[in-house]
Amino acid sequence: MTAVYVGRFAPSPTGALHFGSLLAALASYLDARANQGRWIVRMEDLDPAREPPGAAQQILDTLSDFGLHWDGPVVYQSQRIDIYQQVLRSLIEQNLVYRCDCSRQRVRAMNSVYDNQCRDRQTPPESGYALRLKLPDISVSFDDRIQGRYQQQLTRECGDIVLCRRDGLIAYQLAVVVDDAWQGITDIVRGHDLLDSTPRQIALQQILLHPQPRYAHIPVASNQQGQKLSKQHFAKALDGRDAKQHIHEALRFLRQDIPAGSNRETPASQLQRAIERWDIQRIPKLANIPVRQQLG
Ligand code: GLU
Repeated sequence: MTAVYVGRFAPSPTGALHFGSLLAALASYLDARANQGRWIVRMEDLDPAREPPGAAQQILDTLSDFGLHWDGPVVYQSQRIDIYQQVLRSLIEQNLVYRCDCSRQRVRAMNSVYDNQCRDRQTPPESGYALRLKLPDISVSFDDRIQGRYQQQLTRECGDIVLCRRDGLIAYQLAVVVDDAWQGITDIVRGHDLLDSTPRQIALQQILLHPQPRYAHIPVASNQQGQKLSKQHFAKALDGRDAKQHIHEALRFLRQDIPAGSNRETPASQLQRAIERWDIQRIPKLANIPVRQQLG
């Protein structure tokens, strides 16, 4: 590892911390601390309709209960909208952005790979449009520290991406790239569900002349059907009073070297040992792992 390491946990506060989000928090924390790095928490709160009041604070309180202490102030993306708008304006000035009024249904019918239909329209829509970024027609590949080499042909497998939604909200893909660079993030450790977003993020980094962080995508916790554990699939909120057990289970999920009975130790001492023994290579190269099997 290089001398400087800055990692982050970037939850969307759409609900309380659950086992799935704990995994991303814990893995990013341990990797940062094992590399003498900083670990930052960033609230990705750009979609108020999906954010129950109090959820962001609840996530922070749970992280504290679990002994996952972050460095510096928490950044709230909702307070940085002017910055994203500014970046958007500069992309528009460079003629890299266009208006698109294709419906969600239309894009979904193409397996969510947009065919760039609105890119060359003579008369752009006057209202009810999203702003899309013209992505270059290239293959992007990178070496994920867990999943290995990953490659995507942007036009064929992704299509031009939305930077600003029809309802005016800034899209995750824009905000995440702007903030990872602004915060000097060197290492991103997050769930496998974002692996296929990485090439488009790298393409945007290249357009904005940002450095490329290293990536590690951990398997996501799923149900028996392979569906990601998330609020939609009834992942339950974690209770700080059960932190010992949950940390133990999360370390097992990540296949770390932990002694039997460590679930009786305080979170602080479990985390200390986990930092000392952290080995990212023990994490399986898988998209998901059903959790019943894990937690049983
Ligand atoms: N906010 C995103 C989420 O909660 C994660 C963003 C990221 O780690 O890049 O799914």
